[in-house]
Amino acid sequence: MILSKTPRLTLVSMSGLRVVDQRLLDLGLTMPGLKRRAAALGELPPLGLLTIAATVPGTWDVRLISDVGTEAVEETVDRILADRPDVVAFSCLTPAIDRAVAISQSLRERKVRTIVGGLHATAAPRTCEGRFDAVAVGDGESLLPRMLSDWSTGELGGVYRVEHPIAMSASPLPDWDLWGGAAPPRYTVQTMRGCPWACSFCAASRMLGPARVKPDPQIEREIAVIAGRQARPWIELADDNTFASDRDHEPMLEALRRAGARWFTESDWRIGLRPNLLRQIAGSGCRQILIGFESTVFRYPGMGAKTADFDRVVEAAMAIQQAGIVVNACFIVGADGETRASMDRLGEFLETAPFGEIQLTVQTPFPGTALHESLRRAGRLLPGDFSRYTLFDVVHQPDRISVPELRAGFQELVGRVYRPELQSRRGQIIKSVRSHARKNT
Ligand code: SF4
Repeated sequence: MILSKTPRLTLVSMSGLRVVDQRLLDLGLTMPGLKRRAAALGELPPLGLLTIAATVPGTWDVRLISDVGTEAVEETVDRILADRPDVVAFSCLTPAIDRAVAISQSLRERKVRTIVGGLHATAAPRTCEGRFDAVAVGDGESLLPRMLSDWSTGELGGVYRVEHPIAMSASPLPDWDLWGGAAPPRYTVQTMRGCPWACSFCAASRMLGPARVKPDPQIEREIAVIAGRQARPWIELADDNTFASDRDHEPMLEALRRAGARWFTESDWRIGLRPNLLRQIAGSGCRQILIGFESTVFRYPGMGAKTADFDRVVEAAMAIQQAGIVVNACFIVGADGETRASMDRLGEFLETAPFGEIQLTVQTPFPGTALHESLRRAGRLLPGDFSRYTLFDVVHQPDRISVPELRAGFQELVGRVYRPELQSRRGQIIKSVRSHARKNT
């Protein structure tokens, strides 16, 4: 194929929190806890796309568009077409895949070629085949250049798989210029990909390959680039379990401290057992860590050393807060063994729980996970499309209660835990953790 003009690639980020259950939308998303997290997720720059953008040959003109799922499909299609792209590449998680398919279909009818990648495409490529021109399975850094080269020879099509997961040293610096001049509310940095554990519900742990850490000099460069764009930036580490590896974390923490960053990440509770590390983390500007308490009624297979008695996890989380870092305690509702009584018990605990933030989600068996496979085999996946895989909608048959009971119990729990007086109580906890942190620095 002879190219007559500069080819154009539009990258589409399918971001935001998507909830199907209307009652939960009405109830939960008007409440501050969920609303804040939804806003934060919607505002996060799409790090994966900014990173693969840096692998695109200079002969291409690259654009970035964000779709948060709130406008009509045809409006999004029109926004994409306004850039007159030759190829459109989507990155999305499971709840956004049906919408990406609808957009792709409309673009293909207009002779625009489409690509999909990301966690859902990697976990369930068969659900994407035929709906996009090409499907990327695995690390996008090594696949996108191949796909674009195939487009230029008229051969783009089918499923592209990485032969070997890439080393993190081969992942380029994200192309922040593509984001434009305005500073995002939060920047994103990935310090490792994957997680050494394999919790059976987790879609992120090993989908893209084994756990891999990014070399320190690379992390330091990424943080320096962000600090050059904005003084005292807010940074969200786009890791699944930042402190799970046995690397020396000091160089990364020192780079965050030098940048004057305030930052957020996810980790497992065991950092609460490491007072020296906690001091370093707090001193480097960490404001909040999300800790997965997971289910209070079921021990998921694959949690490795993360498996522990509930009281031990609470104690570790308290140690994290005492070090001056707010804990966002994350609970899963609806695992095997859940009953109305166990949801009531969780509600009771959370009314007086000592954490600054609480996150409640419904057990969601994402494609590609061991949980999905076991529920599928048992015939316990509810029929319907992927747009319901939001972490807030019930998509499986619980073992001890009915689907309506789980749905109602979850809604009740959300109403109970996010009511204004508890929000303001947690606001006070956050203030006291922060003031303690200021005194110690
Ligand atoms: S520890 Fe967290 S990131 Fe790791 S496998 Fe479990 S849920 Fe996933």
